Amino acid sequence: MEKYSKIWEEIKEELEKDLEEVVFTDIFEPVNTVFKVINNYIYIVAPNDFIKKRIEMLYLKKLNKYLKFKLDDLHKFRVMTEEQASEELSDSRSYSITKPEFGIENKYLQGNLNASYTFDSFVVGNSNRLAYTSAIKVADQPGVVANPLYIFGDVGLGKTHLMQCVGNYILEGDMNKKVMYVKTDQFVEEYVRSASKKKFEEFNQKYRDVEVLLIDDIQFLAKKEKSQIEFFKLFEILHGTQKQIVITSDRSAGELKDVMSRLTSRFEWGVTVDINRPELNHRIKILKKKLTAETSDASLIPNDVIEYIASVFDNNVRELEGALKRVLFYCTAFNLNFTVKNAEAALENLVKPRTNGNFLNTNKINNILSIVSDYYRISTSDLISKKRTSKYVFPRQVSMYLIKTMYDIPYKKIGTYFNNRDHSTVMHSVEKITNEIEMDKNVKRDVEKLKIKCGEN
Ligand code: ADP
Ligand code: MG
Repeated sequence: MEKYSKIWEEIKEELEKDLEEVVFTDIFEPVNTVFKVINNYIYIVAPNDFIKKRIEMLYLKKLNKYLKFKLDDLHKFRVMTEEQASEELSDSRSYSITKPEFGIENKYLQGNLNASYTFDSFVVGNSNRLAYTSAIKVADQPGVVANPLYIFGDVGLGKTHLMQCVGNYILEGDMNKKVMYVKTDQFVEEYVRSASKKKFEEFNQKYRDVEVLLIDDIQFLAKKEKSQIEFFKLFEILHGTQKQIVITSDRSAGELKDVMSRLTSRFEWGVTVDINRPELNHRIKILKKKLTAETSDASLIPNDVIEYIASVFDNNVRELEGALKRVLFYCTAFNLNFTVKNAEAALENLVKPRTNGNFLNTNKINNILSIVSDYYRISTSDLISKKRTSKYVFPRQVSMYLIKTMYDIPYKKIGTYFNNRDHSTVMHSVEKITNEIEMDKNVKRDVEKLKIKCGEN
Protein backbone atom coordinates (compact mmCIF):
# COMPACT_ATOMS: atom_id res chain seq x y z
CA MET A 1 0.00 0.00 0.00
CA GLU A 2 2.81 2.30 0.85
CA LYS A 3 4.01 1.86 -2.67
CA TYR A 4 0.80 3.32 -4.05
CA SER A 5 0.76 6.20 -1.62
CA LYS A 6 4.28 7.04 -2.61
CA ILE A 7 3.36 6.98 -6.28
CA TRP A 8 0.43 9.26 -5.59
CA GLU A 9 2.69 11.71 -3.76
CA GLU A 10 5.07 11.73 -6.71
CA ILE A 11 2.25 12.32 -9.15
CA LYS A 12 1.00 15.16 -7.01
CA GLU A 13 4.39 16.80 -7.19
CA GLU A 14 4.24 16.66 -10.95
CA LEU A 15 0.71 18.02 -10.98
CA GLU A 16 1.83 20.91 -8.87
CA LYS A 17 4.35 21.83 -11.52
CA ASP A 18 2.00 21.17 -14.36
CA LEU A 19 -1.24 22.80 -13.32
CA GLU A 20 -2.11 26.35 -12.53
CA GLU A 21 -1.62 27.08 -8.88
CA VAL A 22 -5.28 27.68 -8.07
CA VAL A 23 -6.29 24.48 -9.78
CA PHE A 24 -3.74 22.49 -7.87
CA THR A 25 -4.56 23.95 -4.47
CA ASP A 26 -8.30 23.70 -4.99
CA ILE A 27 -8.44 20.24 -6.38
CA PHE A 28 -5.41 18.15 -5.69
CA GLU A 29 -3.85 19.48 -2.53
CA PRO A 30 -6.56 18.01 -0.32
CA VAL A 31 -6.33 14.61 -1.97
CA ASN A 32 -3.90 12.80 0.32
CA THR A 33 -5.06 9.27 0.72
CA VAL A 34 -4.91 6.15 -1.35
CA PHE A 35 -7.75 4.22 0.23
CA LYS A 36 -7.58 0.87 -1.45
CA VAL A 37 -6.42 -0.93 -4.54
CA ILE A 38 -8.82 -3.38 -6.06
CA ASN A 39 -8.53 -5.10 -9.39
CA ASN A 40 -5.85 -2.69 -10.44
CA TYR A 41 -7.97 0.31 -9.57
CA ILE A 42 -6.23 2.68 -7.24
CA TYR A 43 -8.81 4.59 -5.23
CA ILE A 44 -7.85 8.08 -4.12
CA VAL A 45 -10.01 10.05 -1.72
CA ALA A 46 -11.43 13.47 -2.54
CA PRO A 47 -12.86 15.65 0.24
CA ASN A 48 -16.25 15.97 -1.40
CA ASP A 49 -18.36 15.06 -4.36
CA PHE A 50 -17.67 18.30 -6.18
CA ILE A 51 -13.94 17.71 -6.23
CA LYS A 52 -14.45 14.04 -7.08
CA LYS A 53 -16.51 15.04 -10.11
CA ARG A 54 -14.02 17.62 -11.26
CA ILE A 55 -11.19 15.16 -11.09
CA GLU A 56 -13.21 12.55 -12.91
CA MET A 57 -14.39 14.93 -15.53
CA LEU A 58 -11.22 16.82 -16.23
CA TYR A 59 -8.16 15.13 -14.86
CA LEU A 60 -8.58 11.38 -14.67
CA LYS A 61 -7.00 10.80 -18.04
CA LYS A 62 -4.03 12.91 -17.08
CA LEU A 63 -3.60 11.06 -13.81
CA ASN A 64 -3.71 7.74 -15.58
CA LYS A 65 -1.14 8.93 -18.04
CA TYR A 66 1.24 9.79 -15.21
CA LEU A 67 0.47 6.48 -13.61
CA LYS A 68 1.37 4.63 -16.74
CA PHE A 69 4.88 6.04 -16.54
CA LYS A 70 5.23 5.30 -12.85
CA LEU A 71 3.71 1.86 -12.81
CA ASP A 72 2.14 0.27 -15.87
CA ASP A 73 -0.92 0.75 -17.96
CA LEU A 74 -2.91 -1.94 -16.22
CA HIS A 75 -3.52 0.28 -13.23
CA LYS A 76 -5.98 3.14 -13.27
CA PHE A 77 -7.09 5.69 -10.74
CA ARG A 78 -10.56 5.95 -9.36
CA VAL A 79 -11.90 8.61 -7.09
CA MET A 80 -14.10 8.24 -4.06
CA THR A 81 -15.31 10.78 -1.55
CA GLU A 82 -14.34 10.88 2.11
CA GLU A 83 -17.90 10.01 2.90
CA GLN A 84 -17.80 6.89 0.75
CA ALA A 85 -14.47 5.91 2.26
CA SER A 86 -15.67 6.24 5.82
CA GLU A 87 -18.84 4.31 4.97
CA GLU A 88 -16.70 1.51 3.68
CA LEU A 89 -14.53 1.65 6.76
CA SER A 90 -17.47 1.23 9.06
CA ASP A 91 -18.70 -1.53 6.87
CA SER A 92 -16.22 -4.19 7.94
CA ARG A 93 -16.71 -6.05 4.70
CA SER A 94 -14.33 -4.14 2.60
CA TYR A 95 -12.07 -1.94 4.56
CA SER A 96 -9.06 -4.18 4.39
CA ILE A 97 -6.90 -3.32 1.49
CA THR A 98 -7.23 -5.87 -1.21
CA LYS A 99 -4.14 -6.89 -3.00
CA PRO A 100 -4.15 -6.05 -6.63
CA GLU A 101 -5.23 -8.97 -8.68
CA PHE A 102 -3.38 -8.80 -11.91
CA GLY A 103 -5.22 -9.98 -14.92
CA ILE A 104 -8.68 -9.68 -13.50
CA GLU A 105 -10.87 -6.89 -14.77
CA ASN A 106 -7.82 -4.93 -15.62
CA LYS A 107 -9.02 -3.91 -18.97
CA TYR A 108 -10.94 -0.73 -19.00
CA LEU A 109 -13.74 -1.59 -21.31
CA GLN A 110 -13.54 1.01 -23.86
CA GLY A 111 -15.90 -0.39 -26.37
CA ASN A 112 -15.05 1.04 -29.73
CA LEU A 113 -14.23 4.51 -28.55
CA ASN A 114 -11.12 6.51 -29.20
CA ALA A 115 -9.44 6.83 -25.80
CA SER A 116 -8.05 10.25 -26.53
CA TYR A 117 -11.46 11.79 -27.11
CA THR A 118 -12.10 12.98 -23.59
CA PHE A 119 -13.52 16.15 -22.09
CA ASP A 120 -10.04 16.82 -20.86
CA SER A 121 -8.67 17.02 -24.38
CA PHE A 122 -11.60 18.99 -25.81
CA VAL A 123 -10.86 22.71 -25.90
CA VAL A 124 -13.85 24.90 -25.15
CA GLY A 125 -14.56 28.27 -26.75
CA ASN A 126 -17.53 30.32 -27.90
CA SER A 127 -18.10 28.14 -30.92
CA ASN A 128 -18.69 24.97 -28.93
CA ARG A 129 -19.45 26.00 -25.37
CA LEU A 130 -23.11 25.13 -25.40
CA ALA A 131 -22.46 21.80 -27.07
CA TYR A 132 -19.78 21.07 -24.50
CA THR A 133 -21.87 21.89 -21.44
CA SER A 134 -24.79 19.91 -22.80
CA ALA A 135 -22.52 16.94 -23.42
CA ILE A 136 -21.17 17.11 -19.87
CA LYS A 137 -24.69 17.17 -18.47
CA VAL A 138 -25.63 14.18 -20.56
CA ALA A 139 -22.49 12.31 -19.54
CA ASP A 140 -23.25 13.02 -15.92
CA GLN A 141 -26.85 11.89 -16.08
CA PRO A 142 -27.37 9.74 -19.13
CA GLY A 143 -30.95 9.29 -20.21
CA VAL A 144 -32.18 12.06 -17.96
CA VAL A 145 -31.36 15.60 -19.03
CA ALA A 146 -31.34 15.61 -22.80
CA ASN A 147 -32.47 12.68 -24.84
CA PRO A 148 -31.54 12.57 -27.59
CA LEU A 149 -28.64 15.00 -27.59
CA TYR A 150 -28.36 16.17 -31.20
CA ILE A 151 -25.05 17.80 -32.14
CA PHE A 152 -24.62 19.34 -35.56
CA GLY A 153 -22.02 21.33 -37.46
CA ASP A 154 -19.64 21.31 -40.39
CA VAL A 155 -17.02 18.70 -40.92
CA GLY A 156 -13.92 18.68 -38.75
CA LEU A 157 -15.30 20.80 -35.94
CA GLY A 158 -15.27 18.21 -33.19
CA LYS A 159 -18.64 16.46 -33.27
CA THR A 160 -17.24 12.95 -33.17
CA HIS A 161 -14.74 13.97 -30.53
CA LEU A 162 -17.40 15.48 -28.29
CA MET A 163 -19.78 12.58 -28.74
CA GLN A 164 -17.10 10.15 -27.71
CA CYS A 165 -16.26 12.24 -24.66
CA VAL A 166 -19.72 11.34 -23.43
CA GLY A 167 -19.05 7.64 -23.93
CA ASN A 168 -15.60 7.69 -22.39
CA TYR A 169 -16.81 9.65 -19.42
CA ILE A 170 -19.66 7.25 -18.75
CA LEU A 171 -17.34 4.29 -19.06
CA GLU A 172 -14.87 5.81 -16.68
CA GLY A 173 -17.59 6.03 -14.09
CA ASP A 174 -18.91 2.54 -14.76
CA MET A 175 -16.93 0.30 -16.99
CA ASN A 176 -19.79 -2.13 -17.30
CA LYS A 177 -22.09 0.36 -18.98
CA LYS A 178 -22.94 -0.79 -22.46
CA VAL A 179 -21.82 2.15 -24.52
CA MET A 180 -21.89 1.77 -28.25
CA TYR A 181 -20.47 4.10 -30.82
CA VAL A 182 -21.55 3.50 -34.39
CA LYS A 183 -21.18 5.41 -37.61
CA THR A 184 -24.47 5.68 -39.45
CA ASP A 185 -23.15 4.08 -42.63
CA GLN A 186 -21.94 1.15 -40.57
CA PHE A 187 -25.39 0.83 -39.01
CA VAL A 188 -26.95 0.83 -42.46
CA GLU A 189 -24.50 -1.73 -43.72
CA GLU A 190 -25.08 -4.06 -40.81
CA TYR A 191 -28.79 -3.76 -41.22
CA VAL A 192 -28.61 -4.55 -44.91
CA ARG A 193 -26.39 -7.53 -44.23
CA SER A 194 -28.67 -8.90 -41.55
CA ALA A 195 -31.67 -8.38 -43.80
CA SER A 196 -30.10 -10.27 -46.66
CA LYS A 197 -29.30 -13.17 -44.37
CA LYS A 198 -32.55 -12.82 -42.47
CA LYS A 199 -30.55 -12.63 -39.30
CA PHE A 200 -32.42 -9.85 -37.59
CA GLU A 201 -32.08 -11.38 -34.20
CA GLU A 202 -28.39 -10.86 -33.98
CA PHE A 203 -28.75 -7.33 -35.24
CA ASN A 204 -31.49 -6.51 -32.78
CA GLN A 205 -29.66 -8.08 -29.93
CA LYS A 206 -26.62 -6.05 -30.62
CA TYR A 207 -28.38 -2.71 -30.76
CA ARG A 208 -31.34 -3.06 -28.48
CA ASP A 209 -29.18 -4.13 -25.61
CA VAL A 210 -27.13 -0.93 -25.44
CA GLU A 211 -27.47 1.59 -22.65
CA VAL A 212 -25.83 4.51 -24.40
CA LEU A 213 -26.00 4.79 -28.17
CA LEU A 214 -23.69 7.21 -29.94
CA ILE A 215 -24.68 7.40 -33.57
CA ASP A 216 -22.42 9.49 -35.77
CA ASP A 217 -23.27 11.36 -38.99
CA ILE A 218 -26.96 10.59 -39.09
CA GLN A 219 -27.30 12.44 -42.43
CA PHE A 220 -26.19 9.20 -44.05
CA LEU A 221 -29.60 7.71 -43.32
CA ALA A 222 -30.91 9.79 -46.23
CA LYS A 223 -32.77 7.75 -48.81
CA LYS A 224 -32.21 4.53 -46.86
CA GLU A 225 -35.86 3.97 -46.03
CA LYS A 226 -35.63 0.51 -44.58
CA SER A 227 -32.73 1.45 -42.38
CA GLN A 228 -34.68 4.49 -41.28
CA ILE A 229 -37.57 2.33 -40.21
CA GLU A 230 -35.19 0.09 -38.33
CA PHE A 231 -33.54 3.03 -36.67
CA PHE A 232 -36.93 4.43 -35.79
CA LYS A 233 -37.82 1.21 -33.97
CA LEU A 234 -34.50 1.21 -32.19
CA PHE A 235 -34.93 4.82 -31.20
CA GLU A 236 -38.37 4.12 -29.74
CA ILE A 237 -37.09 1.22 -27.69
CA LEU A 238 -34.04 2.95 -26.34
CA HIS A 239 -35.73 6.27 -25.74
CA GLY A 240 -38.71 4.58 -24.15
CA THR A 241 -36.46 2.94 -21.59
CA GLN A 242 -34.45 6.10 -20.87
CA LYS A 243 -31.36 4.89 -22.61
CA GLN A 244 -29.24 7.82 -23.71
CA ILE A 245 -28.95 8.52 -27.42
CA VAL A 246 -26.42 10.99 -28.83
CA ILE A 247 -26.67 11.89 -32.51
CA THR A 248 -24.37 13.93 -34.69
CA SER A 249 -25.10 15.36 -38.08
CA ASP A 250 -23.77 17.83 -40.58
CA ARG A 251 -26.98 19.84 -40.37
CA SER A 252 -29.93 20.51 -38.08
CA ALA A 253 -32.67 17.90 -37.87
CA GLY A 254 -35.05 20.18 -39.72
CA GLU A 255 -32.67 20.43 -42.64
CA LEU A 256 -32.07 16.72 -43.09
CA LYS A 257 -33.07 15.69 -46.55
CA ASP A 258 -34.76 12.43 -47.43
CA VAL A 259 -35.15 11.33 -43.86
CA MET A 260 -38.67 10.57 -42.70
CA SER A 261 -40.25 13.27 -40.63
CA ARG A 262 -41.21 11.00 -37.77
CA LEU A 263 -37.51 10.49 -37.25
CA THR A 264 -36.41 14.09 -37.69
CA SER A 265 -39.12 15.28 -35.33
CA ARG A 266 -37.89 12.85 -32.69
CA PHE A 267 -34.38 14.16 -33.10
CA GLU A 268 -35.74 17.43 -31.78
CA TRP A 269 -37.30 15.92 -28.68
CA GLY A 270 -34.22 16.39 -26.56
CA VAL A 271 -31.62 19.09 -26.88
CA THR A 272 -30.09 20.32 -30.12
CA VAL A 273 -26.74 22.10 -30.11
CA ASP A 274 -24.46 23.24 -32.87
CA ILE A 275 -20.70 23.61 -33.17
CA ASN A 276 -19.26 26.44 -35.23
CA ARG A 277 -15.87 27.40 -36.52
CA PRO A 278 -13.51 28.35 -33.71
CA GLU A 279 -12.25 31.91 -33.63
CA LEU A 280 -8.58 32.78 -33.59
CA ASN A 281 -7.86 32.59 -29.87
CA HIS A 282 -9.76 29.36 -29.63
CA ARG A 283 -7.74 27.91 -32.49
CA ILE A 284 -4.55 28.94 -30.75
CA LYS A 285 -5.69 27.20 -27.59
CA ILE A 286 -6.55 24.07 -29.54
CA LEU A 287 -3.10 24.03 -31.10
CA LYS A 288 -1.45 24.41 -27.72
CA LYS A 289 -3.48 21.54 -26.37
CA LYS A 290 -2.59 19.32 -29.29
CA LEU A 291 1.00 20.29 -28.84
CA THR A 292 1.09 19.06 -25.27
CA ALA A 293 -0.29 15.76 -26.51
CA GLU A 294 2.22 15.52 -29.35
CA THR A 295 5.45 16.64 -27.72
CA SER A 296 7.17 16.29 -24.41
CA ASP A 297 7.98 19.97 -24.24
CA ALA A 298 5.34 22.13 -25.82
CA SER A 299 7.26 25.32 -25.06
CA LEU A 300 9.78 24.42 -27.76
CA ILE A 301 7.36 25.80 -30.32
CA PRO A 302 7.23 29.57 -30.10
CA ASN A 303 3.96 31.41 -29.96
CA ASP A 304 4.39 33.15 -33.26
CA VAL A 305 4.57 29.79 -35.02
CA ILE A 306 1.38 28.68 -33.31
CA GLU A 307 -0.29 31.96 -34.24
CA TYR A 308 0.83 31.61 -37.79
CA ILE A 309 -0.68 28.15 -38.14
CA ALA A 310 -3.86 29.27 -36.41
CA SER A 311 -4.15 32.21 -38.76
CA VAL A 312 -3.84 30.20 -41.93
CA PHE A 313 -6.13 27.30 -41.07
CA ASP A 314 -9.27 28.95 -39.96
CA ASN A 315 -12.19 26.80 -40.86
CA ASN A 316 -11.61 23.27 -39.71
CA VAL A 317 -9.95 21.82 -36.65
CA ARG A 318 -8.89 18.68 -38.43
CA GLU A 319 -6.90 20.70 -40.97
CA LEU A 320 -5.50 22.84 -38.20
CA GLU A 321 -4.27 19.76 -36.41
CA GLY A 322 -2.86 18.31 -39.63
CA ALA A 323 -0.94 21.51 -40.26
CA LEU A 324 0.59 21.43 -36.80
CA LYS A 325 1.70 17.84 -37.24
CA ARG A 326 3.21 18.67 -40.55
CA VAL A 327 5.22 21.55 -39.16
CA LEU A 328 6.45 19.39 -36.29
CA PHE A 329 7.40 16.65 -38.67
CA TYR A 330 9.07 18.92 -41.18
CA CYS A 331 11.16 20.81 -38.67
CA THR A 332 12.17 17.66 -36.81
CA ALA A 333 12.92 15.65 -39.93
CA PHE A 334 15.11 18.36 -41.44
CA ASN A 335 16.51 19.41 -38.11
CA LEU A 336 15.26 22.97 -38.44
CA ASN A 337 14.31 25.48 -35.80
CA PHE A 338 10.64 26.11 -35.19
CA THR A 339 10.28 29.48 -36.88
CA VAL A 340 7.46 31.07 -38.84
CA LYS A 341 9.60 30.90 -41.94
CA ASN A 342 10.12 27.17 -41.63
CA ALA A 343 6.46 26.66 -40.81
CA GLU A 344 5.56 28.50 -44.00
CA ALA A 345 7.85 26.24 -45.94
CA ALA A 346 6.37 23.14 -44.31
CA LEU A 347 2.86 24.23 -45.16
CA GLU A 348 3.50 25.62 -48.58
CA ASN A 349 1.72 22.86 -50.41
CA LEU A 350 -1.25 22.96 -48.11
CA VAL A 351 -1.65 26.69 -48.24
CA LYS A 352 -1.29 27.16 -51.97
CA PRO A 353 -4.13 24.97 -53.17
CA ARG A 354 -6.45 26.73 -50.74
CA THR A 355 -5.67 30.11 -52.17
CA ASN A 356 -5.15 29.34 -55.82
CA GLY A 357 -8.83 29.20 -56.55
CA ASN A 358 -9.23 32.71 -55.22
CA PHE A 359 -6.18 34.12 -56.79
CA LEU A 360 -6.50 37.79 -56.59
CA ASN A 361 -5.48 40.41 -58.98
CA THR A 362 -4.32 43.63 -57.49
CA ASN A 363 -7.24 45.42 -59.10
CA LYS A 364 -9.70 43.77 -56.80
CA ILE A 365 -7.70 44.78 -53.76
CA ASN A 366 -7.30 48.33 -55.01
CA ASN A 367 -11.01 48.42 -55.63
CA ILE A 368 -11.72 47.51 -52.01
CA LEU A 369 -9.20 50.04 -50.76
CA SER A 370 -10.66 52.88 -52.74
CA ILE A 371 -14.25 52.03 -51.82
CA VAL A 372 -13.41 51.86 -48.15
CA SER A 373 -11.44 55.09 -48.17
CA ASP A 374 -14.29 56.86 -49.98
CA TYR A 375 -16.78 55.51 -47.49
CA TYR A 376 -14.83 56.77 -44.50
CA ARG A 377 -13.70 59.94 -46.29
CA ILE A 378 -9.99 59.36 -45.93
CA SER A 379 -7.32 58.98 -48.58
CA THR A 380 -6.17 55.58 -49.75
CA SER A 381 -2.62 56.39 -48.80
CA ASP A 382 -3.72 57.10 -45.23
CA LEU A 383 -5.73 53.93 -45.29
CA ILE A 384 -2.73 51.77 -46.03
CA SER A 385 -0.28 53.86 -44.01
CA LYS A 386 1.06 53.06 -40.58
CA LYS A 387 -0.70 56.04 -38.99
CA ARG A 388 -2.30 54.98 -35.75
CA THR A 389 -5.13 57.45 -35.21
CA SER A 390 -8.50 55.76 -34.91
CA LYS A 391 -9.77 57.72 -37.87
CA TYR A 392 -7.49 55.54 -40.00
CA VAL A 393 -7.11 52.43 -37.92
CA PHE A 394 -10.74 51.37 -37.98
CA PRO A 395 -11.25 51.70 -41.76
CA ARG A 396 -7.93 49.89 -42.21
CA GLN A 397 -9.15 47.01 -40.12
CA VAL A 398 -12.41 46.94 -42.03
CA SER A 399 -10.55 46.72 -45.34
CA MET A 400 -8.45 43.85 -44.07
CA TYR A 401 -11.60 42.14 -42.92
CA LEU A 402 -13.25 42.62 -46.30
CA ILE A 403 -10.27 41.29 -48.21
CA LYS A 404 -10.03 38.25 -45.98
CA THR A 405 -13.70 37.37 -45.98
CA MET A 406 -14.33 38.10 -49.64
CA TYR A 407 -11.21 36.53 -51.11
CA ASP A 408 -9.76 34.37 -48.35
CA ILE A 409 -6.15 35.07 -49.10
CA PRO A 410 -3.45 34.51 -46.47
CA TYR A 411 -3.03 37.14 -43.79
CA LYS A 412 0.58 37.56 -44.65
CA LYS A 413 -0.27 38.39 -48.22
CA ILE A 414 -2.92 40.87 -47.12
CA GLY A 415 -0.25 42.53 -44.99
CA THR A 416 1.76 43.31 -48.10
CA TYR A 417 -0.99 45.67 -49.30
CA PHE A 418 -0.74 47.64 -46.06
CA ASN A 419 2.91 48.64 -45.98
CA ASN A 420 4.09 45.16 -45.17
CA ARG A 421 2.18 44.68 -41.96
CA ASP A 422 2.92 41.25 -40.50
CA HIS A 423 0.38 38.46 -40.54
CA SER A 424 -0.50 38.75 -36.87
CA THR A 425 -1.55 42.39 -37.20
CA VAL A 426 -3.84 41.50 -40.07
CA MET A 427 -5.17 38.49 -38.26
CA HIS A 428 -6.02 40.47 -35.13
CA SER A 429 -7.70 43.15 -37.23
CA VAL A 430 -9.88 40.60 -38.95
CA GLU A 431 -10.83 38.99 -35.64
CA LYS A 432 -11.57 42.38 -34.13
CA ILE A 433 -13.98 43.35 -36.89
CA THR A 434 -15.54 39.90 -36.80
CA ASN A 435 -16.31 40.45 -33.13
CA GLU A 436 -17.50 44.01 -33.60
CA ILE A 437 -19.93 42.91 -36.27
CA GLU A 438 -21.46 40.64 -33.69
CA MET A 439 -21.55 43.24 -30.97
CA ASP A 440 -22.39 46.39 -32.82
CA LYS A 441 -25.28 46.76 -35.26
CA ASN A 442 -23.80 49.87 -36.86
CA VAL A 443 -20.57 48.16 -37.70
CA LYS A 444 -22.52 45.24 -39.08
CA ARG A 445 -24.58 47.52 -41.28
CA ASP A 446 -21.54 49.41 -42.55
CA VAL A 447 -19.67 46.25 -43.41
CA GLU A 448 -22.66 44.80 -45.21
CA LYS A 449 -23.00 47.97 -47.26
CA LEU A 450 -19.32 47.92 -48.08
CA LYS A 451 -19.45 44.32 -49.17
CA ILE A 452 -22.17 45.13 -51.61
CA LYS A 453 -20.26 48.13 -52.91
CA CYS A 454 -17.20 45.95 -53.33
CA GLY A 455 -19.12 43.57 -55.45
CA GLU A 456 -20.40 40.87 -53.20
CA ASN A 457 -24.06 40.16 -53.65
P1 ADP B 1 -16.26 16.11 -36.89
O1 ADP B 1 -16.78 14.83 -36.32
O2 ADP B 1 -17.09 17.30 -36.52
O3 ADP B 1 -16.00 16.04 -38.36
P2 ADP B 1 -13.95 15.46 -35.31
O4 ADP B 1 -14.59 15.24 -33.99
O5 ADP B 1 -13.54 14.26 -36.06
O6 ADP B 1 -14.85 16.40 -36.23
O7 ADP B 1 -12.70 16.43 -35.10
C1 ADP B 1 -11.65 16.55 -36.02
C2 ADP B 1 -10.34 16.68 -35.27
O8 ADP B 1 -10.30 17.91 -34.61
C3 ADP B 1 -10.15 15.62 -34.19
O9 ADP B 1 -8.83 15.22 -34.17
C4 ADP B 1 -10.51 16.33 -32.92
O10 ADP B 1 -9.80 15.83 -31.82
C5 ADP B 1 -10.11 17.75 -33.21
N1 ADP B 1 -10.96 18.72 -32.51
C6 ADP B 1 -12.10 19.28 -32.96
N2 ADP B 1 -12.59 20.15 -32.06
C7 ADP B 1 -11.74 20.14 -31.02
C8 ADP B 1 -11.69 20.85 -29.78
N3 ADP B 1 -12.63 21.73 -29.43
N4 ADP B 1 -10.67 20.59 -28.94
C9 ADP B 1 -9.71 19.71 -29.29
N5 ADP B 1 -9.69 19.03 -30.44
C10 ADP B 1 -10.69 19.23 -31.30
MG1 MG C 1 -17.23 13.10 -37.31
